[in-house]
Amino acid sequence: MKITRLTVYQKNLPLKDPYWLSGGRLKFEVLDATFIKMETDSGIVGWGEGTPWGHTYVAAHGPGIRAGIETMAPSIIGQDPRKVELVERAMDVCLPGHLYAKQPIDLACWDIMGKAWELPIADLLGGKRSNGTPAASSVSSGEPDYMMGIINHYRKQGYIAHSAKVGGSDVATEIERIRHIEANRRDNEIILYDVNRAWTRREASIVMNAVADLGVTFEQPGETLDDIAEIRKVTTSPISVDESLVTLQDATRIARDGIADVFGIKLNRVGGLTKARRLRDIAIEHGIQMFIMATGGSVLADTEAAHFAQSIPDAFIRACWSCQDMLTLDIAPGSGPRCVDGFITVDDTPGHGVTPDEKLLGNPVAIYD
Ligand code: MG
Repeated sequence: MKITRLTVYQKNLPLKDPYWLSGGRLKFEVLDATFIKMETDSGIVGWGEGTPWGHTYVAAHGPGIRAGIETMAPSIIGQDPRKVELVERAMDVCLPGHLYAKQPIDLACWDIMGKAWELPIADLLGGKRSNGTPAASSVSSGEPDYMMGIINHYRKQGYIAHSAKVGGSDVATEIERIRHIEANRRDNEIILYDVNRAWTRREASIVMNAVADLGVTFEQPGETLDDIAEIRKVTTSPISVDESLVTLQDATRIARDGIADVFGIKLNRVGGLTKARRLRDIAIEHGIQMFIMATGGSVLADTEAAHFAQSIPDAFIRACWSCQDMLTLDIAPGSGPRCVDGFITVDDTPGHGVTPDEKLLGNPVAIYD
């Protein structure tokens, strides 16, 4: 089987409500999504999506995905999409780095492999191990009552997992905000306090030590892995690494040096399923739990994350994220798993099971063949 054509679409995905990270440091209102239709000489078609969370969150850029595909396309056309590590190697040779541009191509290959072998991606990843993963809400940063209002909104939809965005305020306000949310947390709820790199080492030390009695988990409490390694030495609260977990070498360092207890794996950031499954295996081998996310995007991106999450034993998965519930536009009506009573469950449809409506995507921005 050979890849014969890549058709690229760009679509803006508006958010229902403006969203702030790190106390307003970063504001988001629309996501720049890239969709890829991959055709083969066998007639099997695969779909991929790459949607960074704006261009200020991490080193990922919507237009950069499309530029990356243009550069990589000549090396991708003619590859067998079922041989994902050969496609991965071809991409890494012709464009070092830029993992976020490779993930949508990787996803389309996994979709085709699933359709060719008549298995869902979760089974291709080793076997579906779960009958449903808690969906995590993403709680925009703000005053304590504003954040509790968002959590209550998601509770009504059955959500039991929440990623509460903190950081960007003075330490007294941070401590008050975390204690307020924890005082209102229900017994069965999973709440992650996501700092998104906003704290200095000093701020992280003060806040995390002040609420150490709560036993809550802090995600990305510093800018870099070096910062988090130092924060780790002076605090006892569990730590999740998100933005600073990019490569397999990051994962092995975090695991070997005991820098964190949780991996936040974003499939767009780490370059797709082919690379992410190695991070997953490092985590399981070292007793490290995982939060799984696409990074952002439509039901297609969420479904990729859900297949990956459901290849992980329940004991190692905290939650996955359902970004689609934050969007005003659905590009694949009636297709793919939706969040039901706070859980996402993939079915046995071969591949990922999502087919975007091409009329909703509009005219392609590029075709390579
Ligand atoms: Mg995070």
